[in-house]
Amino acid sequence: MEFRYILAGQSLTLDTEKCIGCLMCCEVCPHNVFSFAEGKARIADRGRCMECGACARNCPVSALTVTSGVGCTAAVIGGLLKGGEPNCDCDCGTAKSKKVRCC
Ligand code: SF4
Ligand code: SF4
Repeated sequence: MEFRYILAGQSLTLDTEKCIGCLMCCEVCPHNVFSFAEGKARIADRGRCMECGACARNCPVSALTVTSGVGCTAAVIGGLLKGGEPNCDCDCGTAKSKKVRCC
């Protein structure tokens, strides 16, 4: 089952003029919000964004902005709905994500 975030992602902005095409946002986004075309990142699916802030924190040229802070709440609600542990899919705190902070 795929969760989509009602009204989430509304604060996400991408300034394509600033984007240098490093692909970091594509790498760190836990929900595949971005695509990549013509050397630039694109917001491909805003409805998948949980506003965790990982992309903005890791963009080297501050091309991305997002009002973060709801990702963990979404994870808790998702965990409750699925009857499992809270999980925002970001790999926060794992060896894989040492350079990547979500929350
Ligand atoms: S992290 Fe920033 S500079 Fe790199 S591809 Fe994404 S938007 Fe562009
Ligand atoms: S805020 Fe999080 S979920 Fe939204 S685009 Fe950025 S990395 Fe992906």
